[in-house]
Amino acid sequence: MKKLSVVVSCFNEEKSIPLFYKEVENHREKDFSDVDIEFEYIFINDGSKDKTLDEIKKLHRENQNVRYISFSRNFGKEAAMFAGLEAATGDYITIMDADLQDPPSLLREMFDWVVERGYDCVATRRVNRKGEPPIRSFMARIFYKLINKITDFEMVDGARDYRLMTKQVKDAVISMREYNRFSKGLTSFVGFNTKWLEYENVERVAGETKWSFWKLFKYALEGITAFSTAPLAFSSVLGLFFTVVSAILILFIIIKTLVFGDPTSGWPSMVCIMVFMGGIQLLSLGIIGQYLSKTYLEVKNRPIYFVKETEKDFKE
Ligand code: UDP
Ligand code: MG
Repeated sequence: MKKLSVVVSCFNEEKSIPLFYKEVENHREKDFSDVDIEFEYIFINDGSKDKTLDEIKKLHRENQNVRYISFSRNFGKEAAMFAGLEAATGDYITIMDADLQDPPSLLREMFDWVVERGYDCVATRRVNRKGEPPIRSFMARIFYKLINKITDFEMVDGARDYRLMTKQVKDAVISMREYNRFSKGLTSFVGFNTKWLEYENVERVAGETKWSFWKLFKYALEGITAFSTAPLAFSSVLGLFFTVVSAILILFIIIKTLVFGDPTSGWPSMVCIMVFMGGIQLLSLGIIGQYLSKTYLEVKNRPIYFVKETEKDFKE
């Protein structure tokens, strides 16, 4: 019998988890009745402050195929997904959000693309961002335009983390043990045949989004520094440009002085230039700093997450 692992990262999802489990189980019974497949659930409790873990334990009590990993604190969704993928034992693995924004009704179709039509991975994207603040959609669109310009491979706008993949793809993704994880990049970086499915955005069933504007902004920066060194090249280009400009200016001033003498003037423009150059230098330093700080975190080689308990520690 084949096995499908369902990896679900949860952060304060006490209300969503029972609804999520029921919905996926319904679809398993209804849509997968004709295939010989077993589902394994792996819930990752990402340092929730509410009763998320109790809800997961309730499910584990009634179904031994529900496994869980509970983190020692909140490590973020990327770390949670990584832990889930590492723990997954299935032949196929799917990653889903706990809030039912990733429709389980798609699971069978995704499964067929992989099992019957030989794709290695099926990914999903939202065709719209209904129910999301307009400013967030706008910034997201700019981010995808920018990152696609400066990286060599495609990052799809509206791509979700909701995907179904073979064991081989999963192994490739978790073999990249980097600390600053940006899944959307990692999954396209590994290659393999990917089929994209589209669907209309669904709003979450319960609870609220964990992503503040600031969190998303930092995540976007992570995506850029993790997958592109273009900003570094940008500072070199800028440096080169201003070197040429200043060389021309120096020549101009020498000739002007020789021809017209040297009355003291140009003080305000001098200050402007100094401030401008200072700005450019700080900007370039900042860019280098971004990469340095990421490198710093990588070389420490710290674990991506710490586990407090798993289903193996479960006691009645
Ligand atoms: N999540 C997590 N750790 C975090 C933030 C979020 O595991 O630090 C989980 C969350 O419980 C949910 C999924 O990641 O299952 C997506 O989060 P959310 O629905 O808040 O994001 P959105 O759908 O609004 O982008
Ligand atoms: Mg959501």
